[in-house]
Amino acid sequence: MSLKVLKFGGSSVGSAEAFRRAAAIVSEELPAGGLVVVSALRGTTDRILEACAAAGGGQLPSAREHLVALRDRHRQVASELGLWTEVRPTWTPLLDRLDRLLTGMAMLGEATPRGRDAALAVGETLSAHLAAACFGGAFREVREVLRTDARFGKARPHLAALRTAAAPWREALEAGGLWVTQGFLGITAEGHTTTLGRGGSDTSATLLGEALGAEEVQIWTDVDGVLTADPSLVPGARPIPQMSLGEAEALSAFGAKVLHADSLAPGARAGFRLVVANTLRPGASRTEILPVPPLRPPGAVTSVAYKEGISLLRFPASAGLEPPLKAARSLEEAGALRFGLIASPAGTLLAVRPETPAAAEVLGTLAASGLACESGWAVVALVGEGLRADPLAALRHLAALGPEPVGGLLTGSSTVSIAFLVPESRLGDLIPRLHDRCVDGQPPLRIPERQKTG
Ligand code: ADP
Ligand code: ASP
Ligand code: MG
Repeated sequence: MSLKVLKFGGSSVGSAEAFRRAAAIVSEELPAGGLVVVSALRGTTDRILEACAAAGGGQLPSAREHLVALRDRHRQVASELGLWTEVRPTWTPLLDRLDRLLTGMAMLGEATPRGRDAALAVGETLSAHLAAACFGGAFREVREVLRTDARFGKARPHLAALRTAAAPWREALEAGGLWVTQGFLGITAEGHTTTLGRGGSDTSATLLGEALGAEEVQIWTDVDGVLTADPSLVPGARPIPQMSLGEAEALSAFGAKVLHADSLAPGARAGFRLVVANTLRPGASRTEILPVPPLRPPGAVTSVAYKEGISLLRFPASAGLEPPLKAARSLEEAGALRFGLIASPAGTLLAVRPETPAAAEVLGTLAASGLACESGWAVVALVGEGLRADPLAALRHLAALGPEPVGGLLTGSSTVSIAFLVPESRLGDLIPRLHDRCVDGQPPLRIPERQKTG
């Protein structure tokens, strides 16, 4: 039997109406059962993090205000769906647990990464219980299967343990079960809750798809698939009907929030079909991410991505390679994302985004040691299979932009992207201009004739 995994993001389960829309999609897509992964209700994760920060800062009353607001909002959505009585028995102990966690943080005067992950799990679990009731499925605890290391806040999966633990899930799902589980969460061998990094429920869905041998994973969100650019900076961004795994990987690695950066690797290993679609317009265009690259004209750029909040560390040439490598390792171990490590005879540049409070602390220590450290940078990437055949096209596009302050070119092993550093303040102007020139200045992204099916 072919198995499908559907994932609904926070925006797709942000209100009673959104839950109803998601339920209609589940019954359409999974008539014979399957697995649904849901995120916390929109805004919940931010709210819990604010509560933890308040509690850790000793402000328990303020943390409790966040808790009350969360409880009231969840209750309202459940009541509007007529499911309050059904979910109440599972929700009450979860909210009590969150209250105890916040109290503990206030007593300690610290929100530890482990405590924060335990608190965040409440938001995801509230949502999954409601989704199970709303979709007519059974709630399953993802922490039965999704084993990870103990890097709280940005945990990495233990694939072999996940595969073994998921075997009974596969059997039950193949027998026609409809199961609903949480995104974003994992569990260490010692039984502590972890999270996979912000936006990580895309990765939960693809990891589970891989472990369960799924044929298709569908990411349901609030846009018509993967677009040619972030629509908040480029309102005219268009959906990309088909893209390669390599393009999707580069796009998400360089910041396109629609897919979590770690969410593509499972599909690359397992070969399932990956689809991105819009909960608000299920019949609209969608993006299919293919292992075999779609044909693109040489030099064609499919999309533009960016990520702000990058810090640059500059090491003098005299320091050699060991200090920057050591810094990169300790930053990554603490959860930072590394966007570039460029060594030249003139010195070494390390570009990182801290991502977790622990990584920000490591960065602070490095800066305090006298190392040149600049914040306020962004990375911008041009992505497209067409760049394989004509990599210099990206440089020609950049040159045509005129004198932009570029901090460094980040070319890596990927041949489907070229990325560079710019001051964050330039993004608002630069991204639309790059999109105009590199994506809009080319023929529309059509499915090439010989790849059309049917
Ligand atoms: P979800 O809650 O469904 O996980 P996210 O907010 O994490 O949704 O991701 C979807 C959002 O990603 C879109 O609403 C859009 O604003 C943003 N985004 C950024 N770049 C792109 C892109 N290239 N294509 C589509 N969406 C993008
Ligand atoms: N709820 C989590 C977050 O907001 C995970 C996710 O949305 O994918 O980061
Ligand atoms: Mg997301």
